Amino acid sequence: MISKDIKEYGLSIGYTKVGITSADNFTEYVAEVVSRGDKYDILNFTTTNPVHGATPKNIMQEAKSVIVLIWDYFQNDFPEELKKMIGKIYLARCYNPLPGTIAYSRLQLMKSYLSNNGCMVNSDIGIPARWAAAQAGVTTFGKNNFAYVDDAGSYIVISAIVVDMEMDYDQPTMESKCPPNCKACINACPTKAIYEPFKLDPKKCISFNNWMTQDGRGSISAFIPYELRETIGCKIHGCDICQDICPLNQKKLKTPKAVDRYIEQIGQDITLPAILNMTDEFFTNRIKPIMYNYIKDKRYFMRNAAVAMGNSKDQKYVKDLEIALVNPDEMIREYSAWALGKMGGQDSRSVLESRLANESSDNVKKAIKQALA
Ligand code: SF4
Ligand code: SF4
Repeated sequence: MISKDIKEYGLSIGYTKVGITSADNFTEYVAEVVSRGDKYDILNFTTTNPVHGATPKNIMQEAKSVIVLIWDYFQNDFPEELKKMIGKIYLARCYNPLPGTIAYSRLQLMKSYLSNNGCMVNSDIGIPARWAAAQAGVTTFGKNNFAYVDDAGSYIVISAIVVDMEMDYDQPTMESKCPPNCKACINACPTKAIYEPFKLDPKKCISFNNWMTQDGRGSISAFIPYELRETIGCKIHGCDICQDICPLNQKKLKTPKAVDRYIEQIGQDITLPAILNMTDEFFTNRIKPIMYNYIKDKRYFMRNAAVAMGNSKDQKYVKDLEIALVNPDEMIREYSAWALGKMGGQDSRSVLESRLANESSDNVKKAIKQALA
């Protein structure tokens, strides 16, 4: 099997680009991650451990090559109200796709093709996908740390498949196509997570904070720092700000697209009040089909909805937060108190004062007092 055949097969089943690199091309990546100190230590215990995955032989002893597949996930558009709350990559449902989906089946087709042609194959989420893609000559880097493809911009999913065969390798494209003076992404980031071009502090990034802050994640606390909460705005899962502002993405953003009918259908139900006080049924039928990757317990979506409501300062949410303020889950009550304090106004104060008299948790009492201060 030759590299050309692999690429043609990948394109024939819909991938936007296919490139191939050696499994030995990750040494510089490891050095770069290590040079960033403790910024990425939060990932060390996850399946995306940035150093473990950068040695393809850790994933498969016989690793020789890495085949990189690019999928343009922004081919259909999504309702504006949802795009304000949820990253488009999640709405597109193709990142680490679930079995039974088209995206999952496409990746399986590619793996079957390789297996049927004599390759031992392994794909692992831990492979540093953006690095592999640039090494395989299919993407360039943006100063916002995203990988870019002409036409699709940064709205891409990268899949990497490790194989045990040597192949013809593509010329790396480790460069950037950012205009030299452009800093639009850096300036637009509300949390200043991009601390210099091509460098991100994930601990400050909204996308990471939406999901990393869960209990049972090593040294990471479920507590979202107050100063970060205020900058999260109305994002409940993911953040596209530094991509949507980017001049390299404007052509893709402005290209007319048909609406994603499935998201249009179920999206009518996905509102902040519905998320804040969601039932198990809502979680199963409305949240999990889209945001299945990182948050497995509905309470963190409920918490994120409380933060979003507080930041909106929209008084129409006072009633919803009042309901959440008696939720059996202490965390939901605590964040709802914070949100009511952020919202301000007499109605919020009345709700908080009335709850303070009946609240049993010291943490929540403290949050209510802070909200009233
Ligand atoms: S995803 Fe959002 S928070 Fe993270 S770097 Fe980009 S703009 Fe900043
Ligand atoms: S906004 Fe400018 S600097 Fe940032 S990734 Fe896009 S082109 Fe590069």
